[in-house]
Amino acid sequence: MPESTPAIRRERLFGLPLDLLTMAESVELCHRLVAERGHWRADLNASIVLAALDDPLLREYMDASAISNADGQSIVWASRILGVPAPERVSGIDLFLELVRLAPQRGDRVYLLGAAPDVVQAVAGNFAARGVNVVGYRDGYWAPGEESAVVDAVAASKPDLLFLALPSPRKEHFVLRNRDKLDVGLAFGVGGSFDVVSGRLKRAPLWIQKLGLEWCYRFIQEPRRLVKRYLVGNTRFVLLTLKTRFARN
Ligand code: UDP
Repeated sequence: MPESTPAIRRERLFGLPLDLLTMAESVELCHRLVAERGHWRADLNASIVLAALDDPLLREYMDASAISNADGQSIVWASRILGVPAPERVSGIDLFLELVRLAPQRGDRVYLLGAAPDVVQAVAGNFAARGVNVVGYRDGYWAPGEESAVVDAVAASKPDLLFLALPSPRKEHFVLRNRDKLDVGLAFGVGGSFDVVSGRLKRAPLWIQKLGLEWCYRFIQEPRRLVKRYLVGNTRFVLLTLKTRFARN
């Protein structure tokens, strides 16, 4: 390991791994994992914590991840309350865009998997125009019987970075199920990020992100889809954090 490589401090939050990394350290670690190949990244946020409570496969994905970031501001707050403070929020979309920005100069091969056909096509065109080597892309609306063809297409193009714009826990289950066949450097779930890059959805302004209210902004744009995730989920998450905190006294 080169001397400049940061030591990863892996803690556990709600029984799931959390790496105490800044954005710059996360970028460096992702590049190291791309070189090693066969890794995947995990996002820790309130929805994942709650979903993992009764999803053993999702827990397995998180546990075997080579990097697990504090994707949501609620995780940064909970990490402080529970005594394992994350240095900063490293959201999936920010890290994804930074890796894409650096991809042309590094020569990284990028595969885009997920979102609607017109959305992923627009993202592929946008990235290719910025000099990214997009070695393949396809939408995320395949029939169950098509999965092995999807996996074969990814493996055949040997991407360094596979970005998966699929809902959770579908993307995590997909990676885990196909871990031995997907010949990738680093698999990286990005949820609805392709919709933002393509312009279909807007991202919250920086000041709203800094207040930790980005979820509110997403909720206003897609209230029907997100009501359960954010209103019910966030309340459950706050209660879980308090219960965990007071159970330790
Ligand atoms: N999506 C997909 N196939 C499906 C359902 C959804 O590719 O069968 C895409 C959808 O178009 C969107 C993304 O998955 O781009 C959903 O992202 P979401 O915000 O739900 O991700 P999460 O926040 O769960 O990571």
